[in-house]
Order: sequence, then structure tokens, then C-alpha cells
Amino acid sequence: MAKSKFEYVRNFELDDTCLRNCYIVVRLDGRNFHKFSEQHNFMKPNDNRALGLMSRSARSVMEELEDITIAYGQSDEFSFVFKRSTTWFKRRASKLMTHVASQFSSSFVYYWKEYFGEHPLLYPPSFDGRVVLYPSNRNLRDYLSWRQADCHINNLYNTAFWTLVQKGGLTTTQAEERLSGTQAADKNEILFSEFNINYNNESPLHKKGTTLIWEKVNETTTKQIKRPDEVETEITVTRTRKKVTSHSCDIIGEQFWEEHPDILES
Ligand code: ATP
Ligand code: ATP
Ligand code: MG
Ligand code: MG
Ligand code: MG
Ligand code: MG
Repeated sequence: MAKSKFEYVRNFELDDTCLRNCYIVVRLDGRNFHKFSEQHNFMKPNDNRALGLMSRSARSVMEELEDITIAYGQSDEFSFVFKRSTTWFKRRASKLMTHVASQFSSSFVYYWKEYFGEHPLLYPPSFDGRVVLYPSNRNLRDYLSWRQADCHINNLYNTAFWTLVQKGGLTTTQAEERLSGTQAADKNEILFSEFNINYNNESPLHKKGTTLIWEKVNETTTKQIKRPDEVETEITVTRTRKKVTSHSCDIIGEQFWEEHPDILES
């Protein structure tokens, strides 16, 4: 095709190819979700509809885009890990990041009703994205551990905070003052001695966040078959299919990685 005299402007585009052999992590975070959660009456400290919608949107990202092996989410954020050897979009950071962010955002709106029913979505939400490269398995695991540790720290704080408000009758300012300078042990103690809440027994979804991976699962379906001159018979067919599965478990220790050895590459 003949080139126009304007063609040279393409040379202003900068190369943003991700370094080879590194895991490519895209992390999304909801814009101004403190306000979004209040305006949409999220349950505090944890709204399970919102967490479900976040995971549903993340699953759609994994199903629609190539080469994502694991995703981890908590609160209004989700991280997606592309395998080391991916050549998707020639490893161009901006392409990978914007496809993840837009697939996620459009899914969040598309599936809203499945989770929030008639509760209306008041305005179009958006998510920021960033790309980070991790060269070693240790670095990648430490990244995921960092996000899960963050989930734990925030959830312990938020559980203590909202218990003081909802059950202890404190104002939000008073609850904030009460918790300022406290350690994890102090928060556990407040919950236990004043409200008879054992933090260990709180929901794993809230304490550990959500990890999505690909797993082989057996699916059994029944089929009606009918050959000429025979009566219709029903047969069962079992097929193995790769599916995105959701886990709310510890991913900091060794066990998860021993149980799922395919996620990390050598
Ligand atoms: P920014 O645009 O800088 O990310 P933000 O308001 O989104 O600002 P975050 O640090 O990302 O700030 O925090 C997200 C906030 O959204 C949480 O502090 C919490 O108030 C709220 N939130 C997100 N998910 C949930 C949920 N499932 N249940 C209740 N509240 C939630
Ligand atoms: P890629 O994912 O690489 O961008 P693509 O199929 O989106 O692939 P584009 O070069 O972006 O390829 O071209 C977009 C195509 O979408 C057009 O060639 C045209 O066929 C179709 N298209 C987009 N907008 C319209 C429209 N308003 N009416 C009719 N067709 C359209
Ligand atoms: Mg933020
Ligand atoms: Mg946010
Ligand atoms: Mg956040
Ligand atoms: Mg196009």
C-alpha cells in the first residue's frame, strides 16, 4: 500500500517491549473505590457481591486473553501474571496492560447485574493498570506474597475498625483513634475480648483474597443418541477440560506451589 506523507509520525511511538524471560505482571486497581463503594452501598468491611464481581471480571480476562497462568485479587485490585515465554502482542507492555484493563472494566459493567441485581450501577467505573517484570520465581512469589500480606493487614484493620463502629457504637473518628498505633496482636485482642470474635475464624475469602488458576477438571454430560431402527439411549460422556478455578488459600507458604507445580516455570 502506498505510504502517505504523514506516515513518519509512527516513528514517534516508543518501544515498550517487555524484557524477555521475565514474568509480566499487570496489576489493576479501581479508581476512587473508597467513594465508589460508599455510593453503591457496599457492605463494610467486605461486600461479597463486589468481591464476586471482581473475580468474575478477572476470570473473563483469563478466558479472553492468552497466556495468563495465575491471577490474585483482593479489595479493588487484581494482579495478572503472564507466563515468562509469552509472545502475546510481541510482549508490548502498553498492549498487554490496556487489553487487561479494558477487558476487566467492560466485564465489571457487563456482569454487574449478576452480582448486584436491581441495585443500579450509578456511573462507569474505571481501573488503572501498571506493568511490572519479575525475573525469578522467587521475585514472583514474593510479589504475590506481598499482595496477600497486604490483604491480611488491611482486612484485620478493617474488621477491627468496622466492628468498633457497627458493634461498639464508636464513630468512625473514634474507631480510627482507638486503632492508631496498635499492632496486629492488639487488634486481635480487641476483637476477641470486647466482641468475642476470633479473627482466625473469619472468612478465608476476606483473609486470603482470591487466587485464580487454570486446572483440569472432569466434566460429565449426558447425551441422547439414536441409531436408525434403535430406541433412543442415554450415554454419559466424561471429558477433561481446562477451567479457571478459584481458591482462597495461603499462597505465601510452600504448599500451594507444591500442589500446583505448573504455574512456575524453570
Ligand atoms: P485509588 O483511586 O487511589 O485507588 P481508592 O479509593 O480506590 O483510591 P484503594 O486504596 O484502592 O483506594 O482502596 C479501595 C477501597 O475501596 C477500600 O479501602 C474500600 O474502602 C473499598 N472497597 C473495595 N472493595 C471493597 C469490598 N469488596 N467491600 C467493601 N469495600 C471495598
Ligand atoms: P486488531 O485487534 O488487531 O485491532 P481488528 O479486527 O480490530 O484487529 P482494525 O485494523 O482495528 O482490526 O480494524 C477494525 C475493523 O473493524 C475494520 O476493518 C472494520 O472491518 C471494522 N469496523 C470498525 N468500525 C466499524 C464501523 N463503524 N462500521 C463497520 N465496520 C467497522
Ligand atoms: Mg491505589
Ligand atoms: Mg483503588
Ligand atoms: Mg486498592
Ligand atoms: Mg482493532
